[in-house]
Amino acid sequence: MLDVNIRLRVIVLFSLYCIPLLAQRSVEVQFSTKVSQQILQRTVRELVLIGNRMGGTNSGDQAVRMISTRFKEYGLSVEILESPERLTYTHHQWKLKVESPKRLRGLIQNEWLAGFSPSVSETVCELKYIRPGALTLDSVRNRAVLINVPLTHELYEELSNAGIRCILHYSVVNSEAYMHGAMITQLTPSQSNKVPVYNISRFAGERLRQELEYGTPITLRYSSKTVIRYGNSKTVIATLKGKSSQYYIVCAHGDSDSGGPGADDNASGVAGILEVARILSAMVRMKLIQPPVYTLRFIIWGTEYVSASDFVKKRDYELDQIRGVINVDQIGIGRPRYCVYFEGNDVPFNEHLLRVFNSIGEEYAGKQGFWKEATTIPFQGGTDSHVFLPQYLRQLRVRQREIPVITVFTAAWNEPKAVAQTKGWGSKAWKGAADTVIIGYSPYYHSSLDIPRLTTDREPHIVWGVKAVGIGLLRLAWDNTEISK
Ligand SMILES: [Zn+2]
Repeated sequence: MLDVNIRLRVIVLFSLYCIPLLAQRSVEVQFSTKVSQQILQRTVRELVLIGNRMGGTNSGDQAVRMISTRFKEYGLSVEILESPERLTYTHHQWKLKVESPKRLRGLIQNEWLAGFSPSVSETVCELKYIRPGALTLDSVRNRAVLINVPLTHELYEELSNAGIRCILHYSVVNSEAYMHGAMITQLTPSQSNKVPVYNISRFAGERLRQELEYGTPITLRYSSKTVIRYGNSKTVIATLKGKSSQYYIVCAHGDSDSGGPGADDNASGVAGILEVARILSAMVRMKLIQPPVYTLRFIIWGTEYVSASDFVKKRDYELDQIRGVINVDQIGIGRPRYCVYFEGNDVPFNEHLLRVFNSIGEEYAGKQGFWKEATTIPFQGGTDSHVFLPQYLRQLRVRQREIPVITVFTAAWNEPKAVAQTKGWGSKAWKGAADTVIIGYSPYYHSSLDIPRLTTDREPHIVWGVKAVGIGLLRLAWDNTEISK
């Protein structure tokens, strides 16, 4: 009799704990096998071909149409949220070449016009290098100048007022970034900026500087055609309805942020969200899973920060319905680690959300088709998720709530950064020291070379980002715990 009792207990325990767990894992495997690297790569290429997708421009509107069409094809209901008018810019074309000496004619490659540069007709003029603090205004009048210090608003104004014709700018950082591509900068938004700024590679910039310091006279030929006007950036919101009106936001910024090609930052995030939406909606339609318990809102922000800020102000009345925000920014590449990061473990009310992602990170690390490393990290600032934090809501004069909010990424800036890990948040999937996390970077961050060929076309990260977010949602939004009304 005792034997039968034990057997019965084992069966009951197995049914209670193991069968749901096995079913959950099997659903996660089904999701993961449906993630298509080809579709993701194609979407990133299509987005980059549209242009820099800045909110309120024709390029931004075209991206909105493409994204909306996709969501509708997946059977989701779509609404567009328009933000108030802001100044925007479009670069129709530009040209920048060394005119003389002839041997330097091919030197400038992959240059990029800075945002809010004005239009200028084709001009030939002499180039001068200026050291910070060594500016003698007479010597630069009617000349182009080469600089490698941060171009502040004050410096730009000072140079413009000194009568210079254009600026060549290059950046130097603690990694290989910008050696062959330009770090893209933006001028203060204005319709009355006087001179164009061309961002050039470190390789070209250093060579020009050396030649000028050696005494070589250099002349440039350049032109620019841009439009600076007011426009409304548009945010796409696609809904997969759940049983509860409480919802998760799964979002990414749709503009390229720097104004460059933005394959990693953030066409990768947009393509990732579309892929998660495609697979989850198909799995519901095919009855492989039930509709979610909690509604999912897939959101592509028209303009980073601006659109999320506008959303929380306009939707103040329903922010209590948000169970969590999962933001995806830069999942197209990552150096030197092959790691997926989940940001926000220093915020106490993120505990539940991030424990889920930390477990996923640990369980799948090293498995075929998954990340090599994964870890949670403290907030670093600088993307849409921050808009939902109490301190930001306070700035926006929106009633403060404790909305769990995280960002998923594989690279952050243009060089690696070591940060102290938050106590109690070590990950078994992190191979480095337990108390320090090295945050991965992109060698193409905000660069003219943030293009598909160098990022998503040859790196596996985007697939990992999609799997992490999809599995996370399957555990969170399909949670069977009682719905709190
Ligand atoms: Zn970004």
